[in-house]
Amino acid sequence: MKKIFGFCIVLASLIVLWSCNPEQKGAVIEGKIVNETSEFLLNATLWVQQSAEYQACCFQAFNHAKLALDARISFASADKPLAVVFDIDETLLDNSYFEANLVETNTSYTKDNWKEWSDKKCATAIPGAIDFLNYVETKGVEIVYISNRRENELEASILNMESVGFPSVPRENYLFRTDESSKNNRRAMVNEKYTIILLVGDNLCDFDGIFEDRSLKMGKDAVEANKDKFGQEFIILPNPMYGKWEQSLPNDTVKTATQNRINNVIGYSDICN
Ligand SMILES: [Mg+2]
Repeated sequence: MKKIFGFCIVLASLIVLWSCNPEQKGAVIEGKIVNETSEFLLNATLWVQQSAEYQACCFQAFNHAKLALDARISFASADKPLAVVFDIDETLLDNSYFEANLVETNTSYTKDNWKEWSDKKCATAIPGAIDFLNYVETKGVEIVYISNRRENELEASILNMESVGFPSVPRENYLFRTDESSKNNRRAMVNEKYTIILLVGDNLCDFDGIFEDRSLKMGKDAVEANKDKFGQEFIILPNPMYGKWEQSLPNDTVKTATQNRINNVIGYSDICN
């Protein structure tokens, strides 16, 4: 009995030592060690799913969108019908469950695993989104979706959106990605038929092509130059999980993901004299 007890003590000590090893990268989730990239996504996904602050940010965005919509309607010209253009993912539909799955399975986004997820039609509505779209509809303003979901996801996406309560809109109002990820041409197509009075998205590229180039200060100068449009013409939702911002971070291929992230944070030595 004493031998078994002693063995258990040694085993427990080894587990504690292993878990405290500073060289050990990654976290343990349900017995699985996930890599360092997943660690970044883990915290961001947790914030989206569990923080009341995320929920409040979404309500704030859509509450303000109502004010902006009313104001824009009041001074829009009447030569064309009015439209609001929406992105879908992380703007209207919450796909944080897909991101959680990437963490759990220690994988990253691919076209195929995304399609597998979107086919499930399990995405939920972003807080405040359905209420705002219903409000847009009551104002007689057209709802148009410009999304980088691919056209082979259209059927499942419509079913998913309608099943969670988004209003039904004509199929031609879903402008999904065909050959290019830029939304410029699709926005131009919408502009021919409608006056776009409001754009709602989680990525600056959902608003205007001027935000596509992030090579200069991560695009912050373009945001500064257009700061008056935010909350007026552009309504932005928070998305810490993924986006153009993340793809635009300087990346040294010989360094690890963690080293690159550390290089990109602004620390004491960068800001203090
Ligand atoms: Mg999006």
